[in-house]
Amino acid sequence: MAARKPLIAGNWKMFGRQSSLSEIKALWGAIAPAAEAVEALICPPAVYVGQAVWQARGTQISIGAQDCSAVGDDSARTGEISAAMLADAGAKYVIVGHSERRSQHGEPDALVRRKAEAALAAGLIPIICVGETQVERADGRASAVVGAQVRSSVPDGNAAIVVAYEPVWAIGGASTPTVAEIAEIHGLVRATLVAKFGEGASGVRILYGGSVSPKNAAEVFSAEGVDGALVGRASLKAADFAAIILGHPAAK
Ligand code: PEP
Repeated sequence: MAARKPLIAGNWKMFGRQSSLSEIKALWGAIAPAAEAVEALICPPAVYVGQAVWQARGTQISIGAQDCSAVGDDSARTGEISAAMLADAGAKYVIVGHSERRSQHGEPDALVRRKAEAALAAGLIPIICVGETQVERADGRASAVVGAQVRSSVPDGNAAIVVAYEPVWAIGGASTPTVAEIAEIHGLVRATLVAKFGEGASGVRILYGGSVSPKNAAEVFSAEGVDGALVGRASLKAADFAAIILGHPAAK
């Protein structure tokens, strides 16, 4: 099995200002000794991606974006940002299919897949988000929903991707799934990727996301099949995000 370097990604969502970018240097000051063992990624709002890349110069912190256009070619798309532009600005990753994009912007699996394809074509690594709602879990449909999302949202033929399992009900909330529940869905995601990519699936990192904090990070990382985390609120402050990163067993 290919070795997978843990990835801990921070999604700043629509928070922060230029002044927030100083958190990147502060983060590096705290996590530098762990950088060979764990990859840290910050995804600021798109308008700050270029500046974040400058802030991260001389560090091993990666910078990514939170979304991209599904259209690869330069064209008349007012307000859209292409994956090629993000790559040109120095981004390495882009999140696609976050549940807030799916629910607030009505993005279906087919569009998420096209965004992931556009990212791959531009040389970015898409972080493809999947996850069930509270109702779907209560109905016993979590595995079926997540399996279908992975099959439909993940492009065929190129395993240079990351998948983030983010139960919608755990995002921005107070509750997280149990370690056993996280492990069960991560196993299902891995099996679905193996069905799609064969051996190539072994290099794909599967992250857990949903209310990860310095308090519960060690427990989350103890779940079988978890290759890192996608973190919202707790990534905004360097001290909290560093505590999560340093809480990964590989960082010890
Ligand atoms: C997210 O938005 O991807 C997320 C996991 O948010 P939070 O950590 O705030 O739940």
